[in-house]
Amino acid sequence: MSVNLRIPGPTPCPDDVLQAMSRQMINHRGPEFKEMLERITGSLQRLFETKNDVLTLTSAGTGAIESAVVNVLSPADRVLCVSIGVFGDRFADIAKTYGADVQKLSFDQGTAADPEQVAAALRADASFKAVTVTHNETSTGVTNDLGAIAKAIRGVRPDILILVDAISSLGSVPLPIDAWDLDVVFTGSQKGWMVPPGMSMVAVSSRAWSATESAKIPRYYFDYKKAKSYLEKGETPWTPAVSVYFAMDVALKKLEAEGLRAIHERHARLGQFTRDGVKALGLKLLADERVASNTVTAVVVPDGVEGPALNKMMRTEYNTVLAGGQGSLTGKIFRIGHLGLVTQEDLQACLDALKLALPRVGFSPSGVAAHA
Ligand SMILES: *Cc1c(COP(=O)(O)O)cnc(C)c1O
Repeated sequence: MSVNLRIPGPTPCPDDVLQAMSRQMINHRGPEFKEMLERITGSLQRLFETKNDVLTLTSAGTGAIESAVVNVLSPADRVLCVSIGVFGDRFADIAKTYGADVQKLSFDQGTAADPEQVAAALRADASFKAVTVTHNETSTGVTNDLGAIAKAIRGVRPDILILVDAISSLGSVPLPIDAWDLDVVFTGSQKGWMVPPGMSMVAVSSRAWSATESAKIPRYYFDYKKAKSYLEKGETPWTPAVSVYFAMDVALKKLEAEGLRAIHERHARLGQFTRDGVKALGLKLLADERVASNTVTAVVVPDGVEGPALNKMMRTEYNTVLAGGQGSLTGKIFRIGHLGLVTQEDLQACLDALKLALPRVGFSPSGVAAHA
C-alpha cells in the first residue's frame, strides 16, 4: 500500500512527472532546453493569469522570498510586513536580514489580515516602499482575501510595491495576478504544481522592474535582471535543475489539460470535504472557517492527545503522513495537505485513518480524555 502523503509540500507527483525526472541530461544552453523553457514560461503565465514576466529559479520557495526582497528593496527602505503566521514572519525576517526597516502588522493565528487595518497602517505613514503579504498561510490553514487587501492598499498607495508569497496557493486557488495588480508573486514547484522540490517561479510586474533599477541590496544568484536577459535567449543564468524542468514541463501540460477553473473548483470542493470530515470526527479547525484554506487544513489537537503521538500513529500504523504545527503551534495542531495531486478518496482514507487512530492516542469525542 502506498503512503498517503498528506503534508502541504512536497506533495505527491503523478507517475509521468516522476518518470520525466529520469531522462538523460541535455545541454542547458542548447535548443531543446530553450524550447522547453519557453513552453514552461508561457504555460506559467497562463496559469498565473499574468502578462508579466515569469522567471524560474532553481531554489526552494524561501529562495523566491529572498529574491523578492533583494531585487526591489534598498537597505533602510520602510516595509510593511503583514503576517498571519510563520511564513508571514519569515518574509519580515528576510527583509530585516537585508537591512530593510520593517514594520510588522500581525494578526492572530487562525485569522486573516484585515484589509482596512493594512490600509490604515499605510495612511499613518506615507514612507512605506513595499508591503509583503502571504496569500495562503500554510502554517495556520488560512487564506487571506488578497484581492481585498490589494484593493485596500491601492486605495491609499496606488504605486507601492506589493510582494506576495503565494507559494502554497498559486495554481491551486484563484489568484489573478494582473487583475489584482500585484508586483512580485511567487510559488514553488513542490506545492500545488505536483513537481518535486527545486524550482521556484516568480512573476515580476513593470512596477517591480522599475524598482530593480534603484534597489541597492546586493544580489547575485537571484538577480532578476540577469534571469530576464538569459530568458530572452532561452536560458537561465546558472545551471538549472534540469530534471525538475523536465518534470514541470509534463506537470504543466496536465494542469492545463484539466484547466485552471476546474483545478480551483477541485481544491474548493476538497477543502470543504476535509473541513466537514474533520468536524464530523468531533475535531476543531484552527482557522476561522470563513477564511479557511482550500490547500491545507489545520486541526486543533484535542485535549488528552499528544500531537506528535497522533502523527506517529498515523504514519506507522495507517500509512498516512500528516504535518505537525510550526513555531508556537508546535504540538497544538496537525495539518492535512490537500493541494496538487489529490482526490476525495485520498482524503476519505485520511479521515478514516484518523477515526481509527484518534481513540488509540487518547481521544474521546465528548472532549473527555479516554484514559486521563
Ligand atoms: C512551503 C512554503 C514556504 C517555504 O518553501 P520552502 O520551499 O520550504 O522554502 C514559504 N511560504 C509558504 C506560504 C509555504 O507554503
